[in-house]
Amino acid sequence: MEKVSDIFGSMVFNDAVMKERLPKQTYRALRESIETNKDLTMDVANVIAAEMKNWAIENGATHFAHWFLPLSGVNAEKHDAFISPVGDGTIIMDFSGKDLIKGEPDGSSFPSGGIRATFEARGYTNWDPTSYAFIKEKTLCIPTAFAAYGGEALDQKTPLLRSMDEINKQAMRIMKIFGMDDVKKVITSVGAEQEYFLVDKETYLKRPDLIYTGRTLFGAKPPKRQELDDHYFGAINPRVKEFMEDIDVELWKLGIPVKTEHNEVAPAQHEMAPIYSETNVALDQNQLSMELLRKIARRHDMVCLLHEKPFAGVNGSGKHVNWSISTDTGMNLLDPGDNPKKNMMFMLMLIAVIQAVDDYQDLLRCAVASAGNDHRLGGNEAPPAIISVFLGDEIGFVVDKIIAGEEIHMDKEGLFDLGANVLPSFKKDTTDRNRTSPFAFTGNKFEFRMPGSEQSIGDICCVLNTIVAESLEQYADRLESTTDLAGDLRKLTKDVLTKHQRIIYNGDNYTEEWVALAEKRGLLNLTSTAEAVTQSLNKKNIELYKKHGIFTETEVRARFEVQLENYGKMINIEALTMIDMARKFIAPAVSAYSADLADTAISKKELGVNANAEISALSRISDLAEVLGQKINLLEEAVIKAGEYEPVEAATFFHDSVIPKMNELRVVADELETLTCKEYWPFPSYGDLLSSVQS
Ligand code: ADP
Ligand code: MG
Repeated sequence: MEKVSDIFGSMVFNDAVMKERLPKQTYRALRESIETNKDLTMDVANVIAAEMKNWAIENGATHFAHWFLPLSGVNAEKHDAFISPVGDGTIIMDFSGKDLIKGEPDGSSFPSGGIRATFEARGYTNWDPTSYAFIKEKTLCIPTAFAAYGGEALDQKTPLLRSMDEINKQAMRIMKIFGMDDVKKVITSVGAEQEYFLVDKETYLKRPDLIYTGRTLFGAKPPKRQELDDHYFGAINPRVKEFMEDIDVELWKLGIPVKTEHNEVAPAQHEMAPIYSETNVALDQNQLSMELLRKIARRHDMVCLLHEKPFAGVNGSGKHVNWSISTDTGMNLLDPGDNPKKNMMFMLMLIAVIQAVDDYQDLLRCAVASAGNDHRLGGNEAPPAIISVFLGDEIGFVVDKIIAGEEIHMDKEGLFDLGANVLPSFKKDTTDRNRTSPFAFTGNKFEFRMPGSEQSIGDICCVLNTIVAESLEQYADRLESTTDLAGDLRKLTKDVLTKHQRIIYNGDNYTEEWVALAEKRGLLNLTSTAEAVTQSLNKKNIELYKKHGIFTETEVRARFEVQLENYGKMINIEALTMIDMARKFIAPAVSAYSADLADTAISKKELGVNANAEISALSRISDLAEVLGQKINLLEEAVIKAGEYEPVEAATFFHDSVIPKMNELRVVADELETLTCKEYWPFPSYGDLLSSVQS
């Protein structure tokens, strides 16, 4: 293998490459445009484009594409060849500044929640120069933001960029108040831990449910699940190891600083975590990682399942979003630090997050709502649908003291220090980590554990940035004219913590007691997507988005519609797939096996042999087969009825009336699986799937 340092970023037109290849002036103009958010002039864009093209061709590219993240959740790219005819039958390789900066994909094939109907059919992609261009499969990919003709965001990137600007703006006011004049920019960083399953491709191809929906819609629990678990605790098997080595190299080439590792939670489940980066880059990199996980698994005759819950009764997959906020001078503002000034800043950021999470529980919940994630949240393997903040014993103790108005003293280790600035200093490492908390402070960052494995982190990070920006704005308003920063900050801290202490919970989030306590505290418990998504339309949320320039009301409503529509579409596909599998495969298989049993029973009887085993099995299977037929019909009726509703109402109907019928059908089919001879069963079992890569 080549050296990692040679491979890393070799397919990226990154800062080092630009610095080396672009004329000094051009490079400087680009940097300035990035730092000040100003548009590039076409002259500069032309020079960058020409050099980008040369570099891409040298590295084997033949095409270019604007790469963007529409609301369908799937990465989109429209390929164009570099070639341009010159009129004498020959071509030149052409790529202009205009090609680089703006693209016009066929907007109508992407979800817009009605935005295009009311405005214009066209959509534009705009280069995001803060995320580097890269080469993927001979195509120069240019990361872009996708918006409608009128400027409305149609993607995951646009609002995220807006939210990054906004939190920078508000946090910079705080920097001023603290006299941190050397800071030019405040950024938010994210490291997204990605979980996934691997199954053998041949086995996968025998499961229409996995093919069409990404999860198993049928499947009896394997009798030996525990043993299977043990099996997987051991060393990584060679096939998975080869895959991981491959994915590492491919991601490194794209400049994604990933370290893969085995995951011990469920059989066939693994996890990958990159080193954190700025939120928009983290978004692009996570989207690319998911794309490559899928592609590279195929190369190894495996299939990577990114669905939140591929197997009922087996742990699902999440995507932990580790979030922090820091300065361009390299100071992590969520790092408790070792001196009183850093401490004050830390405390301010901590309360800003606590307040934000409490005030906008609904938005956070909404951002992680999807048909797939509904199976995880509250399933006693992932955080519940109730949002709360874990601070750990150390900080939790200090918070309690602050609320009670007590003095805090420093111990010998320098744990807590009221000092001159009257705010405590903390030991940096809070080792006590509560894995059941949906939103945990883990030393110098927050870890949001509710996001599902398949979800884009775009909206999630946008919500985080925006709601914290709102807290910071309120604090800046209050502190800007202060003459006693330490004193006013102390008051602010006490006020905020007192008001928002209900959101802090350091106990076990998986217990019934917590659900009851949370209800008493008035915390939201939105158990389904249909319920959660509606919250985005709350007046306070629309106001928040408008005020910070993240979304217009039109955009909020459009996203609301898209999210519910995606949900309904997914359940609809699942229901139809179930009907198809049950009717065309399961019922006939059961019937064939019954015929075999009946034949055997008749033959045995003719011979005067005891045929009771066959007869009783036949009788039980036949009764269930009748119920199966009924359940198929009931589900079908429900699906037809769902089709009569508008997408938004349909979501509720799918949740209340279609899903229960899917569950009922599954129960019967799964029982039949346990009663039917394996040779007759038309699909690989859970055991087959979960051990398919191992064998
Ligand atoms: P674990 O959660 O497994 O103990 P870490 O907490 O070290 O591991 O890292 C998990 C993820 O958090 C990684 O993707 C890492 O890059 C990211 N991370 C670490 N520090 C920060 C930070 N300050 N801001 C954002 N993400 C971070
Ligand atoms: Mg972690």
